[in-house]
Amino acid sequence: MPMSHIRIYQINDPAELEELVAHAATLIQRVLGVQKGILLRAAGEEGALLRLRASPILGLATIIPETIMLPFTFVEYFGQTHAPLMAPQLATHPALLTLTPHDREILHLLDMAIYLPLESAGECVGILGLGAKASGGAYSREDVELVYTLLEQAAQMVESLRVTQNLSIVRELQRLNEAKASFLMVASHELKTPLTLIQGYADILTSLPPEDVQDPQKVQDVIRGIKKGSERLAQVIEDMLEISRIEAHALRLQWQEVNLARIIEQVMVHVGFAATERKQRIETSGMEAIPPFEADPQRLFQVLRNLVENAIKFTPDGGKIAITAQVLGGVAPEEQILEIVVADSGIGIAPEDQERIFEKFTRLGDATLHSSSRVHFKGGGPGLGLAIAKGVVEAHGGRIWVESPGYDEKACPGSRFFVWLPMKRRSHDS
Ligand code: ADP
Repeated sequence: MPMSHIRIYQINDPAELEELVAHAATLIQRVLGVQKGILLRAAGEEGALLRLRASPILGLATIIPETIMLPFTFVEYFGQTHAPLMAPQLATHPALLTLTPHDREILHLLDMAIYLPLESAGECVGILGLGAKASGGAYSREDVELVYTLLEQAAQMVESLRVTQNLSIVRELQRLNEAKASFLMVASHELKTPLTLIQGYADILTSLPPEDVQDPQKVQDVIRGIKKGSERLAQVIEDMLEISRIEAHALRLQWQEVNLARIIEQVMVHVGFAATERKQRIETSGMEAIPPFEADPQRLFQVLRNLVENAIKFTPDGGKIAITAQVLGGVAPEEQILEIVVADSGIGIAPEDQERIFEKFTRLGDATLHSSSRVHFKGGGPGLGLAIAKGVVEAHGGRIWVESPGYDEKACPGSRFFVWLPMKRRSHDS
């Protein structure tokens, strides 16, 4: 039977060939009702014999050996004819007359009704053997065409799977590369700034004239500078460690009964000086009415301090910051949510940045600004604060987001950061 050319896509490795044949085989089974199928691939030679690896492709009733030995003539048949071989032809085709009774016995054991050569780039890369059709009839030319079409479709599918896999690997590598680049930028920038400060003060200390060394005030000033630099350095390193704990899902919360008013008081102690310096007013309301709830107080303090420091940082001098809280939801604590809002009258955040700012290393505006202070107007930072806040809030089973009409340094539309926390710890939370 003359055959149209056999079209199989480029096959890269034996596993891929097996995969595509297996894909096609299930379809062939469904369409033609074929119950048995094997894939034969060359696996070495011994004298005039070729060792063929036989892989079951469709549920085999008969047990087949893993490898079979057949003379080269069997495979050469396909190389010469580029056509399938029907079982009856084994006995009649002139090219196969040299098969010995032993060879025929092996082929008889395999019990295939047809053998189809699989070609890739003009080379025979395997032979697909198929058992009898459900109807019992011989394979027609249309059947063979159909089998090859299904193989071709499967090859396309395997090919596109490979492309998608490669693409997603490329994307992941790109993402990792970008993350590495921004980490290096932030690490070098944010660690270098306080380090330079420390080195500068240390230099002053070593070159202080003898009379100044005797002056406690002068020495104190220098030491204070060194302390400030090293505290900032420790903070940046701690933030980086915290982010890596969050990413490794290794954040362990110290759950306790928490009083929100106490935490806000602590925050105020930490930011009070900066707010006064920036002539900003911080108002709190609703704190005392919040009943005790379950959370990690130290980490919640971290989150709120960060939000309030950001509010100070991104609000011009003389602006206003409001911290409010209320309990939402049902009567039972299990159904209740604590809502804390930190609202400022600052420069605001563009809608397209409102999600992005919670990703690590994201800072809007001038990236060259450094973090010599946590509260300078529009002062830069490592861009970790909100990413940590998100990680901590989510570890509590809560949510954090921002609402802002947009970014406008003149009109100062302000931003409102929302934190939702369950009042009662859910059993599966960390
Ligand atoms: P950092 O403060 O270290 O830069 P954050 O993660 O705390 O990092 O904040 C990321 C970015 O989000 C900031 O650089 C700033 O651009 C923006 N942002 C955060 N809080 C506010 C706010 N209250 N108003 C306007 N922009 C803000």
